[in-house]
Amino acid sequence: MRGVVLHATRDIRVEDREDPTIKEPTDAIIRVTAACVCGSDLWPYRGTDEVKEPSPMGHEYVGVVEEIGPEVKELKVGDFVVGSFFASDNTCEICQAGYQSRCVHAQPVGAEGTQAQKARIPLADGTLVATPGQPDEDLIPSLLAASDVLGTGWFAAVAAEAGPGKTVAVVGDGAVGLLGILAAKQLGAERIIAMSRHADRQALAKEFGATDIVEERGDDGVAKIKELTDGLGAHSVIEAVGTQESMMQAIRATRPGGHVGYVGVSHDVELPGLELFFSGVHLHGGPAPVRRFLPELIQLIWDREIDPGKVFDLTLPLEQAAEAYQAMDERRAIKAMLTI
Ligand SMILES: [Zn+2]
Repeated sequence: MRGVVLHATRDIRVEDREDPTIKEPTDAIIRVTAACVCGSDLWPYRGTDEVKEPSPMGHEYVGVVEEIGPEVKELKVGDFVVGSFFASDNTCEICQAGYQSRCVHAQPVGAEGTQAQKARIPLADGTLVATPGQPDEDLIPSLLAASDVLGTGWFAAVAAEAGPGKTVAVVGDGAVGLLGILAAKQLGAERIIAMSRHADRQALAKEFGATDIVEERGDDGVAKIKELTDGLGAHSVIEAVGTQESMMQAIRATRPGGHVGYVGVSHDVELPGLELFFSGVHLHGGPAPVRRFLPELIQLIWDREIDPGKVFDLTLPLEQAAEAYQAMDERRAIKAMLTI
């Protein structure tokens, strides 16, 4: 099969790779219909995360079940499925509490890469959710978004306790931040402030439900959020970047007693203890338990109540993956979809 491999910083190649095979009785092999490039794929691409050996890429996927192991009971060959970037049994205490990304048997799906024609999905019954039928072509981008960026933005909004009567601020205008806006809107937030300085992203933020735009960042951005909230700060803040600056911007933009939902993969973030102590904010985040939300998100997409697929502003065939990475790296694209 063909698959995407990162060889070194900014060296993406599409090459022939071994077809995946069933290794564990709980595995499924899927024929990938569409995959995409994640903001977190850019960390190794840019060299922020060291590339020690050629690495298969990708952890977002939708596809059709092609083969199942003998212990897979819920899924059948031919099902169209959406899954998360962490495989989970969905039965342990941690999963039952809704934290499938930290399942006691959690395994990253990305290890073998989903930017490929086929992928092996461990713990298939606990990881994959079948759609109600074969989806119409135009639903595929939204279903693909559910696999990570929508599920992650949704978790961030839930962790930040976005809801009726709340003012929600969103730090980060990548796909996750933008879909955090969509989630906050669905959860009933009264006011949603998008922090973005890019016209195209501001437009999409508004389409997804943002009521205000703040272009300033860092302490200036915090001052602006305070100005918009009678000096108090937002009730709920979504952090969708993962840097020291964005994390502090999120904490400082939150009012005492408010909630920060942080989902940007943390890179060298160090929190000052005394400032945190006096901030009086709740912090909750981590790798999103996307699996918790998948049944609900798939239904909302199926019923055409939400259209998160709009975050894909570039669609390319798998063979042109290098261009997809480059476009996202240069911020020419918000999010690139790869069709297979
Ligand atoms: Zn579990």
